Amino acid sequence: MGIKVAKFGGSSLADAEHFRKVKAIVQSDPDYCYVVPSAPGKRHDADEKITDLLYQCHRLVERGKSHEELFQKIADRYEQIARELELDFDVTGMLLETSDAIRRYKNPDFAASRGEYMNGVLLSKYLGWDFIDAQDVIKFDRQGSFAAEWTNEVLTEALKNHPRAVIPGFYGSYPNGDVHTFSRGGSDISGAIVARAAKADVYVNWTDVSGFMMADPRIVKNPKVIRELSYAELRELSYMGATVLHEDAIFPVHKAGIPTNIRNTNAPQDPGTMIVMKPSPHREDAQVITGIAGHKNFTLLSIEKAMMNAELGFGRRVLQALEDFGVSFEHLPTGIDTMSVVIADKELVTRKDQIIQRIQQTCQPDSIEISAGIALIATVGHGMSSKPGTAAKLFTALYEAGVNIRMIDQGSSEMNIIVGINIEDFETAMNAIYKAFVKD
Ligand code: ASP
Repeated sequence: MGIKVAKFGGSSLADAEHFRKVKAIVQSDPDYCYVVPSAPGKRHDADEKITDLLYQCHRLVERGKSHEELFQKIADRYEQIARELELDFDVTGMLLETSDAIRRYKNPDFAASRGEYMNGVLLSKYLGWDFIDAQDVIKFDRQGSFAAEWTNEVLTEALKNHPRAVIPGFYGSYPNGDVHTFSRGGSDISGAIVARAAKADVYVNWTDVSGFMMADPRIVKNPKVIRELSYAELRELSYMGATVLHEDAIFPVHKAGIPTNIRNTNAPQDPGTMIVMKPSPHREDAQVITGIAGHKNFTLLSIEKAMMNAELGFGRRVLQALEDFGVSFEHLPTGIDTMSVVIADKELVTRKDQIIQRIQQTCQPDSIEISAGIALIATVGHGMSSKPGTAAKLFTALYEAGVNIRMIDQGSSEMNIIVGINIEDFETAMNAIYKAFVKD
């Protein structure tokens, strides 16, 4: 028998009907030992997430106003779930206690964490499993940074006493015991932490899509689902804006060598996406690329100076100017006497003129050209390194679509090629690359 840890996202636990689906999934496979739930999410587009309502409750309390009317909306959701599932449990008592504690503690993290806490309690009753409060087993240091090793020790010990348990996602506690949360979407991280401590064979992340898409479905129509993705590819794609998992959910499982499977609660028969340590050998016959992702709103600083390549420390001085103003850069394509720096617009907003001035002073370049309105597209895949002609195919596709390439950067792992283009060409370029590489 293996061990599986399942995390269910907010939309997978939004109402009683979804609780039933979750139970059917968990009961279909005896390997499921630990379940990490989010708070109830939206049941439809116009609905509200419980976590958002809890933050609003806290803001009312903070301003000295009553949060009771708003809290009733939260209470109604949990009461309805418990009623429809016919749970033999005093939900009203738990809700009253929670509402009172939000008022007394005046702590935004505590308020927000109650969505997961109460959902965890309900789910544990519904499954007939033990409940482990994340406040006791997920640890942060005094500065609020996640204490990975401490948590792993405490949690590993705790799991030994509970062969099957529900552990709410999203929160843990400071050394003094006060509740602290991860950033939004943090239940993904909690699930990965539990998977590591349980030495799971797989971390199954149940959500509302059948896996990671090869491209953003808002831009490319009906993109295929990626069957297999390595953690390194995932990192490249998520860095470029593709999101399914919280970024920090990768570290615990990657460290422990545990694969992550993204699955759809509403289509449990779909295999979803398997995120693995290393690409498996059968992948070679499949598509060359694994996925495409992109981001808008970058600025390209192009610096030119005759004999730049012979001038010792030139690059360092350019980067020093950025560092002095607290600006990080994304890419750094260079020529013989030219150097370009790609920077996210949001980094530059207030500091552009000062940085330019500093580069003028310390580097004395012949020219600095600033081009705003750049979009970046990353084409990612382990298969690219072994296939000659990949770059030719990519650039031909862009040429044929009439897209002018402003910058090219190929990662040293040869696992990705990043192109910088004008923002107006973003959608055209994404579709052109997708069509060139993905067969219907
Ligand atoms: N409920 C939290 C949020 O809405 C955490 C999570 O769902 O992962 O961000």
